[in-house]
Amino acid sequence: MSLSKDTQLVSVHGGHSGEFCQHATDSLEALVKTYIQKGFTWVGLTEHMPPVNDAFRYPDEVAADLSAKHLYDRFAAFIRTARRLKARHANEIQLLVGMETETYCGTIDWINTLVDTFEPDYLVGSVHHVYDLNFDFDADAYRQTMRHAGNPAQLYCDYFDCQLQMIEALRPAVIGHFDLIRIFDPNYRQHLQLPTVREKFMRNLEKIKQFDLILDLNTRALYKGADEPYISRPILEEARRLGIAVVPGDDSHSVATVGYGIAEAIARLHRLGFDTNWRRPGT
Ligand SMILES: [Zn+2]
Ligand SMILES: [Zn+2]
Repeated sequence: MSLSKDTQLVSVHGGHSGEFCQHATDSLEALVKTYIQKGFTWVGLTEHMPPVNDAFRYPDEVAADLSAKHLYDRFAAFIRTARRLKARHANEIQLLVGMETETYCGTIDWINTLVDTFEPDYLVGSVHHVYDLNFDFDADAYRQTMRHAGNPAQLYCDYFDCQLQMIEALRPAVIGHFDLIRIFDPNYRQHLQLPTVREKFMRNLEKIKQFDLILDLNTRALYKGADEPYISRPILEEARRLGIAVVPGDDSHSVATVGYGIAEAIARLHRLGFDTNWRRPGT
């Protein structure tokens, strides 16, 4: 691998911390210090948005008896803390303070309210729900969402339709883990090649190109044992062909996962001929 010496370590989607996210660990500052130690140039701290109401809490938030109000206050604290860290460590790393979205009934108005209130540097537009059902929390959640869809082709198509609506409504600077819907599907390669599914993701890629948005090459899949990051290879090749900017994101949820798989993601993008002068959100 002959990477140019000045290929920068960056993460367009990262910094979930135990301080502000129920399924993460460690303090946000501990994560930031690890990014600095590892030599990252810039990192987006993109914490999950708070739920619109109690019904859309994640199972671990329900188990911990955290209300939507509490999660909102915790998100406000995240924004304050992230801005403080951004200023405190400005000489060592460039931090961006972002927010990762949800996509379910009622989110668009809620996200617009959050954006007006907290003015994040940018949004990572993600889809973790189809039919208002979360599918990525665990394999059981995935099975239930699949059961609702009836079959994989339907689930994948409906996922990409949700994603398109989100893209058109929000135009987020970054699209998070574009094909997350494959998460618990051992046969995803085959399902992504179904003509109906392919048509949907091509349509979304073309919209992303038209709006000039960035795709997150998300290495959390590698951490969870997959042999390629989100976005999977055939989709990544189409993104390359369309000239869409793709930037690594570690989606870190702890000190231990800071930078996990980033070198591999960079090598992959380099091999496929992507521009490795990473585009930063907002530029
Ligand atoms: Zn998370
Ligand atoms: Zn996500």
